[in-house]
Amino acid sequence: MIVLQRSCRGLINSHLYVHLKRQWGSQNMARPSSDLAAFREIFSKAKNIAIITGAGVSAESGVPTFRGAGGYWRQWQAQQLATPEAFSRNPSRVWEFYHYRREVMLTKNPNPAHLAIAECEERLSKQGRQVTVITQNIDELHRRAGSKNMLEIHGSLFKTRCMSCGHEAANYKSPICDALEGKGAPDPDTNDAQIPVLQLPRCEQKSCHGLLRPAVVWFGESLDSDILTQAEKVLDSCDLCLVVGTSSIVYPAAMFAPQVAARGVPVAEFNMEDTPATMRFKFHFHGPCGTTLPPALGRLYWYKYQK
Ligand SMILES: [Zn+2]
Repeated sequence: MIVLQRSCRGLINSHLYVHLKRQWGSQNMARPSSDLAAFREIFSKAKNIAIITGAGVSAESGVPTFRGAGGYWRQWQAQQLATPEAFSRNPSRVWEFYHYRREVMLTKNPNPAHLAIAECEERLSKQGRQVTVITQNIDELHRRAGSKNMLEIHGSLFKTRCMSCGHEAANYKSPICDALEGKGAPDPDTNDAQIPVLQLPRCEQKSCHGLLRPAVVWFGESLDSDILTQAEKVLDSCDLCLVVGTSSIVYPAAMFAPQVAARGVPVAEFNMEDTPATMRFKFHFHGPCGTTLPPALGRLYWYKYQK
């Protein structure tokens, strides 16, 4: 069983980076292929395809991550607000942040990468073949594109969990509660709304009324072990693995994809840049995944037409 904490990300990543460099960096390996026809040949025979997706796929839909240069909500980045400590200190502020993120999603749409994955899943399922999306994104754009077979390993912006009874529920209300209406402005000079805790989203289970929190995995929290076990199963049985819009040295692709490659299973990376793990993979397709994925996963006539 994998027990990992997001708080350990830096440690895990730098650890793996060194490991990857030592193992592969010194070898004189050939660059991975970017031969689309060769990929299509393998893809056409694969029965069990795992697709690991990350922030890059969401970024192409314009979804803000509040990380990295310029990625601020008021004066904070996600790492400072997406923690159990921040929530217990100031649940009103953290709910404003998530309310804002939920509302922003109403203005964003799945892009060609999400659509290509969903269409591929549906088409292959009719042939008795399986596609499973393992995503670290919490925006549900895969679901909105039509994907059904999904593991959201970091949870969802549109799910809540009760702090008292633990009940989890889907929640697409806008606004999620009356008190948050019009709140959550991202500008740095906005004051906290300081909403009383009883007016924040509350549990609707009978006689509970506990405080709800977003059902996402916060920094410092463990991933859901059931979901991780399911992800392991998918990766252990897949005969083709795609890593899309996430660096293969950044968790979770860091632990998933090299593990699949080590079994001798072809891994294809679709990313804006190379990573130290790139050389380990059979294929690497460079560029925005909204451009590279549709011809890779689309129907054959589409691919031929594009040629
Ligand atoms: Zn409850």
